[in-house]
Amino acid sequence: MHDFHYVGQELYCEDRSISSLAAEFGTPLYVYSQQTFTRHYQALDQAMAGVDHAVSYSVKSNSNLAVLRLLRDLGSGFDIVSEGELQRVIAAGGSPSDCLFAGVGKTANEIEFALKRGIYCFNVESEPELDRINRIAGQLGVTAPVAVRVNPNVEAKTHAKITTGTYENKFGIAFEEVEAVYQRAGALEHLKPIGIQMHIGSQLTQVEPFEKAVRKVAPLIEKLAQQYPFEFFSIGGGLGIIYQPALESGASEWWESEKARDLLTPQRYAESLAPLLKPLGLRIFLEPGRFIAGNAGVLVTRVEYVKQTGDKNFVIVDAAMNDLIRPAFYEAYHEIVPIHAKSEGITSSDVVGPVCESGDAFCQDRPLPAMQEGDYLGLMSAGAYSMVMASNYNSRGFPAEVLVNGSQAEVVRARQPLEQLLQGERVPSWMT
Ligand SMILES: *Cc1c(COP(=O)(O)O)cnc(C)c1O
Repeated sequence: MHDFHYVGQELYCEDRSISSLAAEFGTPLYVYSQQTFTRHYQALDQAMAGVDHAVSYSVKSNSNLAVLRLLRDLGSGFDIVSEGELQRVIAAGGSPSDCLFAGVGKTANEIEFALKRGIYCFNVESEPELDRINRIAGQLGVTAPVAVRVNPNVEAKTHAKITTGTYENKFGIAFEEVEAVYQRAGALEHLKPIGIQMHIGSQLTQVEPFEKAVRKVAPLIEKLAQQYPFEFFSIGGGLGIIYQPALESGASEWWESEKARDLLTPQRYAESLAPLLKPLGLRIFLEPGRFIAGNAGVLVTRVEYVKQTGDKNFVIVDAAMNDLIRPAFYEAYHEIVPIHAKSEGITSSDVVGPVCESGDAFCQDRPLPAMQEGDYLGLMSAGAYSMVMASNYNSRGFPAEVLVNGSQAEVVRARQPLEQLLQGERVPSWMT
């Protein structure tokens, strides 16, 4: 994350001091680095240069319009999971013909919308979904491009809530049933099977599960590609990132650091998978989300109170689980750093939000310098699965988002005004 670095005692995002952004735009505040998104996209794209491939950025990881526009300009396509995400891609200037539509529960309206807009392909997750897409395509007088999401039943060795490629999960079609499902798809009048897809999980830090899954499905793909007009194999997303330490000294990317010696890097990913993928002769889609966005953001929060209870030291901040739910939801680790560097009075501290839940804590018993009201803290690596999961719990408005590019910084999502929270609600007639 070298776009986030200290200049003297001040933490900067690219060429902007984060304290000054927090003072100008208020907190809680998501601050994103355009350079990080860009370099991480390019690192993966370049690592795979030896294979005919395309990157389909996973919109759900960070769907801000500015981020989507940036990725479109870099040449990315998109992996979407709802009509809302497709609307976002279109609003950002992206083309539906560069979109893969994933998800286990596509509604009839979503399918119709995507077909009318010319979606590149539906990644189908069940037989009833095939029937539904076929029926709607028939009604519209079009042929729907489909791929089946194969569940290869391999253990991704990641957190249970982000494992998707075993039969314990709701995702995809069991490996043994895939051939029969293609036969069914091939027989349906308004469907055209143009590829195959898999996605085994998220935050994978080793290449072995990917390799295992690709080795397992490759013979099946070769067979199916002879029977159907296959254009692509999408190997999904799932590349993990480093959450700790978030701040590297020196100018290298985390995957060039000592810490990454045993981890999945773009190079290792490409080196292991390219030889297996190339002989298939298909276009390979990659669907990264976290790898591109995860390290590109920080959630900046202001210390409101410091409270000592028994032998606990609570640092109560103005961000909460409604702004960043990953620690509460996945027991996720985010590095927490003072925006104005301090080293005195290191105390084992819990950084907690104001929401009325014991789970509203960003860390427990973590050594932090002595904090005071008005100090800012940064929750690092909050670019993916962070703002997109924000809620209005406790009637708290959504935080603002700022994108930094060199010395430029602009709000790319305004802080939600509290008046908006009541929009659409009303007291029923019988109470008035
Ligand atoms: C969430 C998701 C991704 C992206 O996963 P990351 O771990 O963020 O790379 C890719 N493909 C599908 C189908 C997904 O659901």
